[in-house]
Amino acid sequence: MELQEVLRMNGGEGDTSYAKNSAYNHLVLNKVKPVLEQCIRELLRANLPNINKCIKVADLGCASGPNTLLTVRDIVQSIDKVGQEKKNELERPTIQIFLNDLFQNDFNSVFKLLPSFYRKLEKENGRKIGSCLIGAMPGSFYSRLFPEESMHFLHSCYCLHWLSQVPSGLVTELGISTNKGSIYSSKASRLPVQKAYLDQFTKDFTTFLRIHSEELFSHGRMLLTCICKGVEFDALNAIDLLEMAINDLVVEGHLEEEKLDSFNLPVYIPSAEEVKCIVEEEGSFEILYLETFKVLYDAGFSIDDNYPVRSHVQVYSDEHIKAEYVASSVRAVYEPILASHFGEAIIPDIFHRFAKHAAKVLPLGKAFYNNLIISLAKKPEKSDM
Ligand code: SAH
Repeated sequence: MELQEVLRMNGGEGDTSYAKNSAYNHLVLNKVKPVLEQCIRELLRANLPNINKCIKVADLGCASGPNTLLTVRDIVQSIDKVGQEKKNELERPTIQIFLNDLFQNDFNSVFKLLPSFYRKLEKENGRKIGSCLIGAMPGSFYSRLFPEESMHFLHSCYCLHWLSQVPSGLVTELGISTNKGSIYSSKASRLPVQKAYLDQFTKDFTTFLRIHSEELFSHGRMLLTCICKGVEFDALNAIDLLEMAINDLVVEGHLEEEKLDSFNLPVYIPSAEEVKCIVEEEGSFEILYLETFKVLYDAGFSIDDNYPVRSHVQVYSDEHIKAEYVASSVRAVYEPILASHFGEAIIPDIFHRFAKHAAKVLPLGKAFYNNLIISLAKKPEKSDM
């Protein structure tokens, strides 16, 4: 099956949906907000074609649920705040925002929220209905989404680790897996596995930069936030815990070893240096700002009103409850792709074991994603200079 057909976050609004399990990303977006504002400030100074009339923006890999519109709200608020600083309040530009994700994404649940979102923007931000227009542009962000030189600003948060495909070269000519017992390229992976993943990431990210630089006007901006490798060797990320959980099921005899060996996630976690090198090598963008930060997996727990257990559990410090909480948020992301390979029936078992491992590492503060924010400006063509 094509990756595009199985890759999606859990849709809808049920207990296992991404919509109900994405408080972690909410925290990441909060970290991004000041950088976003600065990025918009610089963009509005750069005087791009038609920008004072209609700013064209896209969020690449928007998913569905509260974070989708949170990102949009942050973008709109940044544009309006910077506009006020420039004292051109009376001439607020129209904002056209395209939400992009793969075809299987639950766009409909986002569309249903739009009427109340527009009303809220009007009430809280004075944005008249019709002055912010939100639409969708489904498709892979590794392929062309917008006409040439038509966009001012592209935003993407927590998406670039998703590759366009599982790297080739993870199976020998004899059909033997080179990544036995593992589901991605971790710190402990064999060198050929690490190389196969890095090659695929380099290819995909280079394509991403090239295609989207063509879609942007000269001096247009791109703000990318992605997971990146940290320096702490003993830290465990969500995929390490997932891998441990699946290995448990093999050891316990619930899953065939071959089933694990033939599964590799189309996910690569690059180092900040790798990202920087690829941007420089591709050459279309100038790096304006780069920052790394970490967010602990259970950090969202105390702010998350959606988590179903919270309403009847008072002992918030209980590590097992936090571990279940982290397991739910990881399940919302990986369930569709895991179910397509391992079957739906084993999913609860995987996340039950995941939670057991999480409960051991969460109190040590060793379970987190390291993150990278990188702000880019499209270099002008020689003829534009
Ligand atoms: N930006 C959101 C969602 C992050 S989840 C947030 O910050 O909360 C990552 C999203 O990227 C998923 O919805 C997934 O479907 C999407 N995605 C992964 N690969 C993609 C691709 N090639 N093209 C478009 N979207 C993709």
